[in-house]
Amino acid sequence: MEICVIGAGYVGLVTAVCVAELGNNVRCLDIDEERVEALINGKVPFHEPGLEEMMRRNIEKGRFLFTTDVEEAVKGTEVVYIAVGTPMNPDDGSVNLDYVKGAARDIAPYLSSGMIVVDKSTVPVGTARTVKSILIEAGAPHDVQVVSNPEFLREGTAVCDFMEPDRVILGTDTEKAAETMKSIYRPLAEQGCEILITSPEAAELTKYASNAFLAVKLTFINEIALLADNAGIDVLDVTRGVGLDKRIGTRYLMPGPGYGGSCLPKDTSGLLHIGRSYNSQLRLVEAAVTINHSIPAILIRRVGDALGGLTGKRIGLLGLTFKAGTDDVRESPAIDLAKGFLEFGASVTAYDPKGIELAKCVLGDSIAYADSSMAAISGANVAVIATDWPEFTELKLSQIAETLSGDLLADFRNIFDPKDAEEAGLRYMGMGRGRLGS
Ligand code: NAD
Repeated sequence: MEICVIGAGYVGLVTAVCVAELGNNVRCLDIDEERVEALINGKVPFHEPGLEEMMRRNIEKGRFLFTTDVEEAVKGTEVVYIAVGTPMNPDDGSVNLDYVKGAARDIAPYLSSGMIVVDKSTVPVGTARTVKSILIEAGAPHDVQVVSNPEFLREGTAVCDFMEPDRVILGTDTEKAAETMKSIYRPLAEQGCEILITSPEAAELTKYASNAFLAVKLTFINEIALLADNAGIDVLDVTRGVGLDKRIGTRYLMPGPGYGGSCLPKDTSGLLHIGRSYNSQLRLVEAAVTINHSIPAILIRRVGDALGGLTGKRIGLLGLTFKAGTDDVRESPAIDLAKGFLEFGASVTAYDPKGIELAKCVLGDSIAYADSSMAAISGANVAVIATDWPEFTELKLSQIAETLSGDLLADFRNIFDPKDAEEAGLRYMGMGRGRLGS
């Protein structure tokens, strides 16, 4: 099938590459000329394991075209995915649909009868219908179909998540559109993936409900971790016991410095706004958002208490991205930790295997950047582990103890065993490990 993908960001590019891998010819459009130039040269402009290899393989097979020209991208295709950003409006937390609406207006003149436009972006309830009206107003044929096909991939494991999804959701009112979309995902269905057909509105809400559920689950275990610290209990004993209950499961039950990234914060906020527009107050999600915001401040206070104040102290910060496996620092709790330490008069030197360039766009030269973990913590009063990069698990505790000028290890990803850290001469503060910081 001839397919067009609008937007070559995390979701658009992964969608384009994976849909090509499923055997289709794909044209991928972005308005960012530099990004398109990089892609034409076979370079993925962000860190996503496995994506560049798969992209190059499909370019070699002649299945790919990157362009900034809308007509070239859209004309003659059968399905056009819209995968542009839907950021949060900072004033009221609502979803900014400007890019989605802009993309719809851009493509409309080049759509022909019976074509399918797919909302891949995460969009509020009712957007598929709004997009259809915009398309028709902007000159698309009246029989154009708009399908909601939300994406559930996670940065860092995006290719695998796309190729082996738990489910594919297709929100559409027409059987014809459902059949066309099903044919794109047939190879996934043949592997056993369930393809769920719903109304467009149900598909749109499914995405927000899924992300809000994950945010609530993470926030719940973070609160239990804070309680475990106060009660002198190791939360990992608790999470194991809780997670082995099949009704609950072990995933998304790992305490940390709060959820971040480009999705959970934005989508919980978006869902609250959607709720308000339907006169529904989502109190559980509201609580999760409030608690999540409060966690970095609690952890900063705990570090300050353990150091006898933060003014003039040096913080060695390990990790800047919101999780391992990505260079994305959007809404990263590590960034909130860095900002908080600075506010209390400490200085920060940070190291991250992939996130330094993007962190510099947010933090500028307010902190120093190091090119290794040991350089970041050298002479620092505390080593703070903010991101669960696998390379941090390989650090030697004895080397951390020797490299710090202080003796505090604030391991907010629970990478190390508290007893091992203490044997190495470190004071250990985890996230719910029942040591320090209550
Ligand atoms: P992104 O910011 O990484 O990429 C968006 C891209 O769209 C940019 O490259 C931008 O230049 C391009 N763009 C904007 N307007 C355009 C236009 N009119 N024509 C062509 N290109 C245009 O965003 P993302 O992280 O890929 O997210 C896209 C959507 O997918 C969002 O709705 C997001 O909520 C959702 N989503 C993201 C993830 C994730 O992990 N990042 C996961 C699931 C769903």
